[in-house]
Amino acid sequence: MPPGRRTKSWIRADHTSCAARQSEARVAQGGAVDAPYAKLDQLEPGIARVLAHNPSAFTYYGTQTYLVGTNRLAVIDPGPDLAEHLDALKQAIGGRQVVAIMCTHTHRDHSPAARPLAERTGAPVIGCAPLALETVGPRADAAFDGDYAADRVLSDGESLDVDGEAIVAVATPGHTSNHLCFAYRGALFSGDHVMGWSTTVVVPPDGDMAAYMASLDKLRQRDEGVYYPAHGPAIDNPHQYVRHLMGHRMQREKQILRLVGEKPRDIPDIVANAYPGLDPRLVIAAGGSVYAHLLDLERRGLVERQEERWTAVKAS
Ligand SMILES: [Zn+2]
Repeated sequence: MPPGRRTKSWIRADHTSCAARQSEARVAQGGAVDAPYAKLDQLEPGIARVLAHNPSAFTYYGTQTYLVGTNRLAVIDPGPDLAEHLDALKQAIGGRQVVAIMCTHTHRDHSPAARPLAERTGAPVIGCAPLALETVGPRADAAFDGDYAADRVLSDGESLDVDGEAIVAVATPGHTSNHLCFAYRGALFSGDHVMGWSTTVVVPPDGDMAAYMASLDKLRQRDEGVYYPAHGPAIDNPHQYVRHLMGHRMQREKQILRLVGEKPRDIPDIVANAYPGLDPRLVIAAGGSVYAHLLDLERRGLVERQEERWTAVKAS
């Protein structure tokens, strides 16, 4: 981390105890939003942020687009194709050259502004691979962006020079199969793989729990000192935070195994028992997450299903 790095206090996550549990509770809050939409917010030298006006039960206050570099810029996660957001980005960019528009993945709250911003700035779209699925399950607000096209796809470990500094792609499948994080000068732009306000939605068929856990473990072995997620506050204790996220998922897995060990259960039954008091808007997403766990457990030979019901495989 460069000397003097500071994350602004209002965007700093509160990680005093188990952040993952706290943030899961925050998911349910929704409600009023008071955030600096369409304004450039300088987080540290060379890293600034513009918040898009697309708040929801899945996006928190909205998508955070990052401007990286000082004289020449990369734009990370340009966000939804909203005129107000594109105008704010154009104003924030000013007369500076944009060398790349980079997307972590192609959910509709991340990548649709890439093409119009490319047209306005002349910059290439460089980053994750395209991925066109009809649906991403219960996240109706975040279906895949089938119009996304990259001028250059970055593989794991490939980098791009921006203003004399490298931005390195870190492949992190799980939330989606095409998800990339971007490492830059001791910081990591973590997209939706690690978010500052909520646990990540992992929903089959594209979302994969085993891949997500492996991608968390991959980050745990890296040494970035701060994460800038696409949604929610900056994470300035990422190792601890990632360990909490992994522990949280392992607890959830244990809980599901226990429930299907008691008797055969369908997914709504598991959700009702595993997520008491859940915001009704998130019941379907929780079902997707339980399904992702069950598929992972099935691959490992620990559960089996009969039609809609799942049951633990008894050790013989
Ligand atoms: Zn996403």
